[in-house]
Amino acid sequence: MIKVVKFGGSSLASAEQFKKVKSIITAEEDRRFVVPSAPGKRCASDTKVTDMLYQCYALAELGQPFSAELAAIKARYQEIIDGLSLTVSLDMEFETIEKKFSACAGKDYAASRGEYLNGILLANYLGYAFLDSAEYIFFTDDGRFDSEKTNSVLRARLTTMENAVVPGFYGSLPNGRIKTFSRGGSDITGSIVARAVHANLYENWTDVSGFLVADPRIVDRPEAIETITYRELRELSYMGAGVLHEDAIFPVRSAGIPINIKNTNAPKDPGTFIVESTSRKPRHIITGIAGKKGFTSINIEKDMMNSEIGFGRKVLTAFEDNGISFEHMPSGIDTLTVFVHQSEFEEKEQAVLAELHRLAKPDSIEIETDFALIAVVGRAMKAKWGTAAKIFSALHRASINVKMIDQGSSEQNIIIGVRNHDFEDAIRAIYNSFVNED
Ligand code: ASP
Repeated sequence: MIKVVKFGGSSLASAEQFKKVKSIITAEEDRRFVVPSAPGKRCASDTKVTDMLYQCYALAELGQPFSAELAAIKARYQEIIDGLSLTVSLDMEFETIEKKFSACAGKDYAASRGEYLNGILLANYLGYAFLDSAEYIFFTDDGRFDSEKTNSVLRARLTTMENAVVPGFYGSLPNGRIKTFSRGGSDITGSIVARAVHANLYENWTDVSGFLVADPRIVDRPEAIETITYRELRELSYMGAGVLHEDAIFPVRSAGIPINIKNTNAPKDPGTFIVESTSRKPRHIITGIAGKKGFTSINIEKDMMNSEIGFGRKVLTAFEDNGISFEHMPSGIDTLTVFVHQSEFEEKEQAVLAELHRLAKPDSIEIETDFALIAVVGRAMKAKWGTAAKIFSALHRASINVKMIDQGSSEQNIIIGVRNHDFEDAIRAIYNSFVNED
């Protein structure tokens, strides 16, 4: 068995956390390859090292003094070194970083140092080899992740090793410059490493005991999800359920490797298993609920729209030409509504409207703002009668007006549009009706 273990920033924020991580890793011989994040927050008011690095580099780029900020970052690592009584010194590393910051080596280089330095410390503490991800994780000239080159180079290297620490979040461009994934991207590195070594399991260690059925900021102590499929997870993460980076599922999914989300602070909790498919019945008909606020609807009316072939294409062209992606597009006989992100749409609104008029020649266009979209997701919903009835009865009882309904034929996902101010109440109503009253 091979397990790849990725530890998030809060799991590696202090010497105390490093100790927990070491005991988790050494508890099982299978945990051979380790992917660390940069030190995260030690308490709610703390700042992540990644953010400190971005701020420090911003000063360097402006030509302003940044040595105090860099010293504060160094102190974060020194606290870990002292707390673990390590003999390693990062003095030379910080000299290099200072020079590179002064030479404007790039924002991505700056941010990547968080994982790079934490990787050096963790490798030293575990007695494992350290691999610099710049030499093993590759991006193409246009900044896309080069999965095949990465997989073959990384695989060739790791198959010769018993253990290794591979820092998360970054790799390099063909010209040698450092490039990072988007924020939270160490999850992606973990997934890439798991694929490269043909791991049996990718354990993603964080500070919660897995995915929860609903957002704990909205629902009081929601249940954890035991098993979720990649497809369900994708729907929920897209709608804002954030434990794992959205792109982290792709490398392992194609290799059929399950992910187990685990809690560094409660390692005995089973966490959530993310799998390709499962015969395990979920505890409830729904697996999870997630949602986002801040959508705008553009309602387009035109008599005889139903018989005008190509009308939908013309409407969508107006959005595409302005670089706006649409979320949903429910339609009636002579009406069609496009849901978009409010923030994306606002600045281009007049250009889109002008193009809609020019291309589609509608009778009227009406814009409404401040919508929230809620996704109710569950593999058990398929071919099960009464799920929609249950959702809408719950919303009815909570006196919530439904502005939009969208269910694809996969029957794994029902999307509901409500006003922003009804968002939290709607999620609580749906959660209670499926989880507490089941
Ligand atoms: N340290 C990076 C961030 O804060 C990447 C990660 O933690 O996954 O976004």
